[in-house]
Amino acid sequence: MKRIYSIFIALIIAIGLLIITKHSTLQYFTNQGHVFGTYYNIKYQASEDLHLAIQEHLLRVDSSLSMFNPHSTISKINRNEAVELDSLFINVYTTSQQISKLSDGAFDITVAPLVNAWGFGTFEKKHEMDTHQIDSLRNLVGYQKLHFDGRHITKDNPHMLLDASAIAKGYACDVIASMLQQYGSENYLVDIGGEVVARGHNKQGEKWRIGISSPEDDPTAQQSIQYIIATDTICIATSGNYRRYYYDGNTKRSHTIDPQTGYPVEHSLLSATVIAKGCMQADALATACMVLGTQQALDMIESTQDAACYLIASEGDSTVVLTSSLWSMYVK
Ligand code: ADP
Ligand code: MG
Repeated sequence: MKRIYSIFIALIIAIGLLIITKHSTLQYFTNQGHVFGTYYNIKYQASEDLHLAIQEHLLRVDSSLSMFNPHSTISKINRNEAVELDSLFINVYTTSQQISKLSDGAFDITVAPLVNAWGFGTFEKKHEMDTHQIDSLRNLVGYQKLHFDGRHITKDNPHMLLDASAIAKGYACDVIASMLQQYGSENYLVDIGGEVVARGHNKQGEKWRIGISSPEDDPTAQQSIQYIIATDTICIATSGNYRRYYYDGNTKRSHTIDPQTGYPVEHSLLSATVIAKGCMQADALATACMVLGTQQALDMIESTQDAACYLIASEGDSTVVLTSSLWSMYVK
């Protein structure tokens, strides 16, 4: 009996030492760079610098979903080349279609012909737009005009184009987060162009702090922070009409296009921040909110039961904040 007791004690000590050694070799790393025309800033705790693996995973997302990359899956689909779809594309496509249905077509990855024509696309310059042109381009837009048989995508019209810009950054955050998780990291913050996944705590052992920018109309101005969330688990994305826009006479043309009207959206909603179960969902939902406008955005988010939003809208010369009912539960 005494012997078993000693073995038991030795075992406990050995396990304790193992845990201490494991934690003492873990460090915090920060990796930064550029991808999808934006920045990434990734902080994580691990036993080694994982920047190479992170870059490799970002490259995989780029090779699947970037319209800037002529060899990507999405570029091949846009050129109507035969292509076997990769798992990243299928994940994004499937979620895109779900969010399109949920938002009644406000979010739509087939919006590219309109995005290009309004001057926000990858290659094309802005066209002079008239209602006739808008109507003919609207015929090329519609998520129901895409069909997926489990391996291939077909389009109702070969001139249709796909644009995953409003969902790919969020998806890339999910991809990097699960990669870090696989490497055993329990504490990380993945920020790609303002879309964020965070888990655990920072180097100081505190919750991660994530800022929501106040929507300044001057794109060159230093962004000021309107609200700070302290969290140990979040997937969050923001879309706004205050960074990418131009003036067409007196009309402000923003980079969010309403697929129903064919025009850039024009309403009082300045920015939409969404928390969801994945950053891919949060990214797409935030764009959908910007298309729908304040009230419809709130209604859509309430209908999901597993997402929350923080909307900043203009009201006269000032701004107002509206949140969905689950918001305070997520950020408490
Ligand atoms: P940000 O780049 O600020 O994070 P979004 O996630 O909202 O913004 O993505 C905006 C981009 O999405 C646009 O530049 C355009 O390429 C594309 N886009 C515009 N309107 C829509 C829409 N209704 N549905 C899906 N994608 C859109
Ligand atoms: Mg988006």
